[in-house]
Amino acid sequence: MAEFSTPCLIIGAGPAGYTAAIYASRANLSPILYEGHQPGGQLTTTTEVENFPGFPTSVSGPQLMMDMRAQATTFGADIRSGMISKVDFSQRPFTVTVDNGDVVKAATVIIATGASARYLGLPDEEKYSGMGVSACATCDGFFYRGKTVAVVGGGDSACEEALYLSSLAKKVFLIVRKPFLRASKVMQERVLKNEKITVLFNCNTLGLFGEPNLQGAKLIENQGMENEQIFDIAIDGFFLAIGHTPNTEVFKEYIRLDENGYIKLEPGSSMTNVDGVFAAGDVADPRYQQAISAAGMGCHAAMDAERYITENDLR
Ligand code: NDP
Repeated sequence: MAEFSTPCLIIGAGPAGYTAAIYASRANLSPILYEGHQPGGQLTTTTEVENFPGFPTSVSGPQLMMDMRAQATTFGADIRSGMISKVDFSQRPFTVTVDNGDVVKAATVIIATGASARYLGLPDEEKYSGMGVSACATCDGFFYRGKTVAVVGGGDSACEEALYLSSLAKKVFLIVRKPFLRASKVMQERVLKNEKITVLFNCNTLGLFGEPNLQGAKLIENQGMENEQIFDIAIDGFFLAIGHTPNTEVFKEYIRLDENGYIKLEPGSSMTNVDGVFAAGDVADPRYQQAISAAGMGCHAAMDAERYITENDLR
């Protein structure tokens, strides 16, 4: 166990964390950044990224993240591996404990721990991950132009994804486990009157099939009822939209969260309710959840941290 100190600790290694590290290191804040179990974040699970500006013919998600990481280290960011197991934001400097027992004392902290898309937990989701199974229609929908896809979920995200995909795909199935949609009325109406979308109410997914590419899903309707039936649908893509879980568990004692666990920011800034603790990216953004918006938020957080450090003479 060792103790370190830094003017700026960044927790999380997605576009928000790496961008914060680039800005903080260029501002001479000698940032330490901790990468958790998935260095690079959610983008490392996608294949081609076509909507990050600056890459006319697309870039692979893992490559983009490796480049962001390299850019941060070029300017001196100290990138380490480890999960944060405990924080104490009640005293300054803040104390952050890593799972290997190391302790970091930090004048400012930038939380960029992201959100994890929820999956159903089927082994087939892993088998076809990035090759037919996706949790981001905006990222991967383009690959299903003129094809047939399914979206799982009945909330606003699922409706939004189904509507987005209907502008690209030939046909969209929306697989809803209840007999109704949970989404807002306006979204429900849009989905229900869209001729390309077929809503399959009371349905759950049992598995996926196809070799080598995804060719279909096995569904069960009215599970456990007299009229239960199992049937297949032919699909090329299977999109999960059953919610995201923001990675805020370790901070919740100190940081104000919304009802879904996302960090609440002071309007128009990256500031949390604790002076000197900032947040960036999906962990504080239930609405957009895009790599480019997360990167922008990382920039804001580093600039806010720099200003805070200068104003309080904490270098
Ligand atoms: P929600 O939690 O609102 O909805 C999740 C959906 O997934 C529900 O229909 C739920 O079913 C279903 N689901 C959950 N687990 C499973 C499972 N294991 N199998 C099958 N279905 C499952 O999440 P969203 O991501 O849709 O939305 C999160 C928040 O963000 C909401 O407050 C939403 O309003 C908001 N949002 C707003 C948008 C906008 O304003 N444009 C766009 C997107 C999101 P069930 O209903 O049975 O629980």
